[in-house]
Amino acid sequence: MKILVINCGSSSLKYQVIDAVTEELLAKGLCERIGIDGSFTYENVKAGLGKEKCDVDIPDHNKGISLVIEAVTDPVKGVTTLEEIGAVGHRIVHGGEAFTSSVLINDEVIAAIESVSDLAPLHNPANLIGVRACQDLMPGTPQVAVFDTAFHQTMPSKAYMYALPLEYYNKYKVRRYGFHGTSHSFVSKKVAEVVGKPYEEIKTIVCHLGNGASISAVKNGKCVDTSMGLTPLEGLIMGTRSGDLDPAIVEFIAGKENMTAAQVVSVLNKKSGVQALSNNLSSDFRDLEAGYKAGNEYAKLAVDAFCYRVAKYVGAYAAAMNGVDVIAFTAGIGENSPFVREKILAYLGYLGVDYCEERNKQRGDVVKISKDDSKVAVYAIATNEELAIARETYALVK
Ligand code: ADP
Repeated sequence: MKILVINCGSSSLKYQVIDAVTEELLAKGLCERIGIDGSFTYENVKAGLGKEKCDVDIPDHNKGISLVIEAVTDPVKGVTTLEEIGAVGHRIVHGGEAFTSSVLINDEVIAAIESVSDLAPLHNPANLIGVRACQDLMPGTPQVAVFDTAFHQTMPSKAYMYALPLEYYNKYKVRRYGFHGTSHSFVSKKVAEVVGKPYEEIKTIVCHLGNGASISAVKNGKCVDTSMGLTPLEGLIMGTRSGDLDPAIVEFIAGKENMTAAQVVSVLNKKSGVQALSNNLSSDFRDLEAGYKAGNEYAKLAVDAFCYRVAKYVGAYAAAMNGVDVIAFTAGIGENSPFVREKILAYLGYLGVDYCEERNKQRGDVVKISKDDSKVAVYAIATNEELAIARETYALVK
């Protein structure tokens, strides 16, 4: 059986075809600028044919999905037949409190996803457009929803409640949800496998450091805390997002700059983070690292502030779990930047972290960075959210 994995945004759609049994990636690609002009990229990974990109009018997501189906089932360039696609796994950003695990999609599930859309207004409606397009074009094929928030639903109330009037929780479900759950789940399970301990008996801190960044504490197989909150704005400093700050700043800046609260929050999401701290040098850590090494003081500030925030969260989560066995770095920065990892690890000697500079420079899907006798083991582990979605999907339909 083949699984089609769909990650549908408002104007883009990423997809992969994965063999459910061998877990081999067969094909991948994306539709971009849907509803604007459109471009479609397809890659037959199995045959190693390389990327093919074409400009093609993509007025809506139905057209996008039909291009995907045509490409992956093409008798020459394709990798499957329509009949072989046993299920479609959809990434859904927000499941609210309704979803603690992945589910088969039916009308009730769609209604529940819609009902929490105001918690993720940019994402959930777009995700559902992808679901509906697949239902239209592949009516007999089961569709599965895999939520970014589900893995974090095991958090205790002391971790997810904000100290606000309770009515905001009761009326609007204002609480910490957390995101990147598929990645935190995938990486924490991989950690247990790699160190050869039962998942239920290990304390792991997962640092998902990408353009969006979050950190989680996973104790005995359950997420007990995570840094993103009601929305993906809270927590770590990110590419363009501020992460944690004094909430009074919103009103203060709004008054000074004659802006609405919504406008300030938009600045916090889109014009802040390392992009802002680096004096708009870049939101990309490759540029920041180069700037840092060339002596750019703002690049240094951005990188130092980013690493300091991560280190503070690691300390907090070690306290939350009364210890930590493994710290795992993942996502674009976590997997690829020895420079950033080293700056974070330099804070953590007090925890018993002893890392090896040479190991830290190595690359691979699983890289051990700590010395063998380090009290806390440290790894860089490649995340694979699409494979995690395919696994969840297969588990529900097989
Ligand atoms: P997202 O999925 O949130 O868009 P990714 O996990 O793909 O983010 O991470 C993207 C980020 O990873 C880039 O913006 C860049 O900062 C960082 N990155 C990628 N490759 C490298 C590298 N070789 N060195 C340092 N940082 C890198």
